[in-house]
Amino acid sequence: MPAPIDYSKLRIVPDFDTAEWWAATKEHKYLVRRCPDCGHKWFPPIFPACARCGSLKTGWFETAGKGVIYSYVVVVQPIVGAFVGTAPYVVAIIELDDCREADGAVTRVAGVMLNDEPEIAIGLPCEVVYEETADPRIVMPRWRVCGAAPNAWRFAE
Ligand SMILES: [Zn+2]
Repeated sequence: MPAPIDYSKLRIVPDFDTAEWWAATKEHKYLVRRCPDCGHKWFPPIFPACARCGSLKTGWFETAGKGVIYSYVVVVQPIVGAFVGTAPYVVAIIELDDCREADGAVTRVAGVMLNDEPEIAIGLPCEVVYEETADPRIVMPRWRVCGAAPNAWRFAE
């Protein structure tokens, strides 16, 4: 497992677009934006309109916080001070299981993994977990591998 993230070096300020999302993570809920007009889902929540139908109405969808690793990178040279002691660590792009739409669209989120690189592979199932920070307003979602997959694939050395 990578060393802990030094959250004291991160300044996260929930704003108009993200306050509800951060409030949900405090309750261990992982939300994505959902268009109430057409049902399309997206992340991050900062985009003010639906990319599919253009609606300016925005809602939320509470995911189960489970998905499959679509791709990943290993960060060895962090640019944010909070992660200096954590490197090397893996950031994965995760396709959420319950955000697959009829037209093939799937919502992908980025997640800092709790697993070390040898435990990571494309195609593996993973789930969100929540880390408390010193800031009572901020609970940080992290992700961990939660199973195996027959066709999991790793980048070559
Ligand atoms: Zn829409």
